[in-house]
Amino acid sequence: MPGYPNLFQPLDLGLVTLPNRILMGSMHTGLEARPDGIGRLAAFYAERARGGAALIVTGGFSPNDAGNLGPHRAQFSSIEDAERHRPVPEAVHRHGGRIVLQLLHSGRYGFHERIVAPSAVKSPINPQAPREMTATEIERTIADFAAAAALAREAGYDGVEIMGSEGYLLTQFLAVRTNRRTDAWGGPLERRLRFPAEIVRRVRAAAGSDFIIVYRISALDLVEGGLSSADIVQVARSIESAGASLLNTGIGWHEARIPTIAQAVPRGAFAWATRRLKEAVRIPVVASNRINAPEVAEAILAAGDADMVSLARAMLADPAFAEKAKKGDRAGINICIACNQACLDHYFIGQPASCVVNPRAGRETKLNYVSVLRKKRIAVVGGGPAGLSCAAVAAERGHEVTLFERAGELGGQFNLAKRIPGKQEFAESIAYYAERLRRAGAAVVLNKAPTAHELGGFDEAVIATGIDPRRPDIPGIDHPKVAGYAEILSGARQAGPEVAILGMGGIGFDVALYLLERDSRATLDPEAFAEHWGIAPDGSLRDLVPPEVKKKITMLKRSTTPFGHSLGRTTGWVHRAELARNGVRMLKGVSYRRIDDAGVHINVEGRDSVVPADTVIVCAGQEPRRELKGGHYIGGAREAGELDAKRAMLEGAQLAAQL
Ligand code: NAP
Ligand code: SF4
Repeated sequence: MPGYPNLFQPLDLGLVTLPNRILMGSMHTGLEARPDGIGRLAAFYAERARGGAALIVTGGFSPNDAGNLGPHRAQFSSIEDAERHRPVPEAVHRHGGRIVLQLLHSGRYGFHERIVAPSAVKSPINPQAPREMTATEIERTIADFAAAAALAREAGYDGVEIMGSEGYLLTQFLAVRTNRRTDAWGGPLERRLRFPAEIVRRVRAAAGSDFIIVYRISALDLVEGGLSSADIVQVARSIESAGASLLNTGIGWHEARIPTIAQAVPRGAFAWATRRLKEAVRIPVVASNRINAPEVAEAILAAGDADMVSLARAMLADPAFAEKAKKGDRAGINICIACNQACLDHYFIGQPASCVVNPRAGRETKLNYVSVLRKKRIAVVGGGPAGLSCAAVAAERGHEVTLFERAGELGGQFNLAKRIPGKQEFAESIAYYAERLRRAGAAVVLNKAPTAHELGGFDEAVIATGIDPRRPDIPGIDHPKVAGYAEILSGARQAGPEVAILGMGGIGFDVALYLLERDSRATLDPEAFAEHWGIAPDGSLRDLVPPEVKKKITMLKRSTTPFGHSLGRTTGWVHRAELARNGVRMLKGVSYRRIDDAGVHINVEGRDSVVPADTVIVCAGQEPRRELKGGHYIGGAREAGELDAKRAMLEGAQLAAQL
């Protein structure tokens, strides 16, 4: 196959042969527990099966009540559940795919009042402590897994994935961190691993020899009191002996203080940990985490680190990833930029998962791009995220689209974002959308801000002119030491050694990260990443090396909400940790008095003080840029407050679907 020969080798599982090495990994879609969820899940997975994924793993379903992740029931434990699920495997099979149901017992990670665990040890990321399971409950839970697997078969699934990583119940049994039992289920590793091994054995017995059993093993725990690399190998061998068909991998418990899937993680960063398992067992092993491009997947397979690759968010971003890779169409793949903004972060706000760069994800039954009957001439003004999204969809539907961009390149705010260490992926989205415009025949006019008069000749005008940074009304705001964030991030101005940042939204944090002058290696190279975050070659944790602090940075905000509260739920802590490690000072509840040669004069709780600064960087939010009148406003031009790329791209796509 051109380009990616290893990725498109069939994989013989004994029971079945998969057509390629691409597994769509499990994600919480947020649809599992919704009343209309099954129909939407069927459409969601069918699209990914049609796009060429060899094997799909659903989001997690609990085999019993205690194992539910949240207060809403995402459970698979009755014949009614099996009946309800039928459309999902049916839809996937219609498109030539295979799908396994993930069985996930949350243990102490559940957010409800009935949570249980091997021992009553509270998780640092859950205010609720679990109740210790009795021996009878342990036996019953094993039986629940087996019964759920038999029901999954009844529903038409090709198999199950047993979730044994990320710090959920099975891992809680394995690690002394959470298993303090002294009975037959605790103590030495042989006894701690009885629980997961017994589950696999009983699932195999209940579901039959021709049923796929994927076991998701924690290839690295990344927590104190987790398993050593030798322990993990021992677990892998037991799981293989118990009857698993495939060993998928997970990296790090959810409570680990090391990023595992965020933008700060290099592509394919953990393949080395998968290799250790591959060398220890005979069943195929799957690599996962930050595998977002076919060349990354191919390199992992070619190096012999794994037999298969798991792509989850990458399939959200582009359901046809596999098909396109097979054709060698790399430029046509919409690459996941690892922002988590519309997928994982949605889980925590109770919204179904979608994707920033592919707003159709999770909306397969609602947002469809139908070919037009009457072609219109459409002008889109602004080549940032909103304009790109709108212009691409409108042109693909068959309209004659002209995209005007006043700068010399497409991308808008993405061009600033891509300069932040760890946010290089934004460049992928710009390139991808530019390619879509090219293929759809849209005209792109750079260095041009059209007048209202010039837009008169079009049937429709879309105003996606974006935002202007807000310049707050503070005495001294015109002082030469004051710079806008765009001036700093674009490299037009350099900050001095002592910096004050006004505003602590996403951009304030981005600017602070940029100013650390951290070289990007730790976000690009797996070895440098491991060193930066204190992961030893054997997978154990070691002390972090204190960084060389090059700038004294103080971040300020008027509100008293927690620092970084507007950052993504699953990524904000990474930024906060990085800044704290580099000695960045943060002040809240600040009133700005003035800016002068000394720095920023402030008052906090009635006390005046000065934040010394040779550079003051304004990151105080945005105002809509709306000088152009008439037409459909989208993105920042419509509403600058709370603007993010997710809303901008969704508005662009939604409008284009209707034009
Ligand atoms: P933002 O999130 O709205 O933050 C603006 C900051 O400016 C706030 O901290 C606010 O804090 C302060 N501010 C507002 N009005 C002010 C005034 N008149 N005087 C002084 N300070 C003022 O805006 P942003 O940082 O520009 O980010 C824009 C969007 O991009 C956000 O929606 C964000 O989600 C997105 N983004 C996200 C990330 C990410 O990592 N997830 C990164 C970059 C951008 P006080 O009112 O407390 O002072
Ligand atoms: Fe990837 Fe971001 Fe889309 Fe999630 S929202 S799939 S992280 S691009």
